[in-house]
Amino acid sequence: MVEQQLAIHGGPPVKTEPFGTGKRFGLEEAKELLEALEQDTLFYHAGRKVKQFLNDFNALYGIPYSVATSSGTAAIHVALGAAGVSVGDEVITSPITDQGTVIGILYQNAIPVFADLDPHTYCLDPRSVESRITPRTKAIVVVHLAGNPTDMDPIMAIAERHGLKVIEDCAQSYLAKYKGRYVGTIGHYGCFSTNDFKHISTGDGGIVTVNSGNASDYETVHAFADKNYRRLGSAVSRDIDGLAPNYRMTELQGAVGIAQLKKLPWICATRQRHGERITSGIRGLPGIAVPLVTEGATNTCWFYMLRLQVEALTCTREAFSQALLAEGIPNGAGYIRHAVYMSPLFQERSAYAGSHFPFELTDIAYGAGLCPVAEDILRTAVTLPIKEFYTDTDIDEIVAAIRKVSLHFGKK
Ligand SMILES: *Cc1c(COP(=O)(O)O)cnc(C)c1O
Repeated sequence: MVEQQLAIHGGPPVKTEPFGTGKRFGLEEAKELLEALEQDTLFYHAGRKVKQFLNDFNALYGIPYSVATSSGTAAIHVALGAAGVSVGDEVITSPITDQGTVIGILYQNAIPVFADLDPHTYCLDPRSVESRITPRTKAIVVVHLAGNPTDMDPIMAIAERHGLKVIEDCAQSYLAKYKGRYVGTIGHYGCFSTNDFKHISTGDGGIVTVNSGNASDYETVHAFADKNYRRLGSAVSRDIDGLAPNYRMTELQGAVGIAQLKKLPWICATRQRHGERITSGIRGLPGIAVPLVTEGATNTCWFYMLRLQVEALTCTREAFSQALLAEGIPNGAGYIRHAVYMSPLFQERSAYAGSHFPFELTDIAYGAGLCPVAEDILRTAVTLPIKEFYTDTDIDEIVAAIRKVSLHFGKK
């Protein structure tokens, strides 16, 4: 096979036509918004839109209860609060995630403990999770990264053995399935984000699923998103019995959410197809390690992250990324800049100004090397944005560009 000259060396780029585009919002959202305004209230408990949004979500997911929140970060905080996570408890989670995963842990004055990841699914490795358990451990927050489910069976077994709550961070994994069940319905609680960068958007917003099927658990979650006011009985009770934030969703977000949910199955199916098409096109290329879908699972591809085997290439990760960009394929060298625990908050163990609380309750340390696999993933990853509006031709050109760059830099 004749090698083509790379675009970065002056050759013709693989991608010359623009990527497929489309609009996320249309008249469907506008109609719902108008109806929300015509109600003359934008309060979730008085209006019909947030209730409809959640009813539709529950029907789609086949679950009895969910609660709307103001963000995905809020959803995770609410789940932690409802799970009883409190001062000095430890919560085990993933070091490759959005800060929103850990914010609620610290607001509960609990201590994030990071476990290491599987090198190819980028999700928590159950053996590492178990090794991090102490008498203080109260909960596990799994992160289904980039649309790929965590291996939940061993996680649930560990939680059962140690009496822990499991919260699923599904912000990046709408309608992803693990052994026939949607992620977000397997742990005690599942948390979703509808911020503007996820599969569906309400501007900002979130959802907590309550998977126990227990009405009093649902009431606890509902109250924790609403100042611990109890609104589900015949009279509202404002005699709060503990601290909880106001994380309510408004009717405007609920209205947009109703229209967005109708598009979600198509969005997820398309992204899943795009992800699978890339993987089958680039598997086995020199220096490329494709992401693995967790066994028995489906991945709804919020973005596509591959890893470079730099020892098999004659270039650096950064040079590979630049060469791919020159071929017309947007991508980033890496994902988050470093593991979550390398941020100043953890390095200085300072969540609240002038204080080391709650870190000082234990002798926890967050040094480099804490999660070597996660650190290695971030050193070798190349991340490609994926959109549901991309065409199959776009995906084939992504594959062709990765192939061209990989064959050029692969050691002969
Ligand atoms: C986006 C995201 C969050 C936070 O959601 P917000 O709505 O931005 O608060 C949490 N976890 C993960 C994995 C995310 O991608």
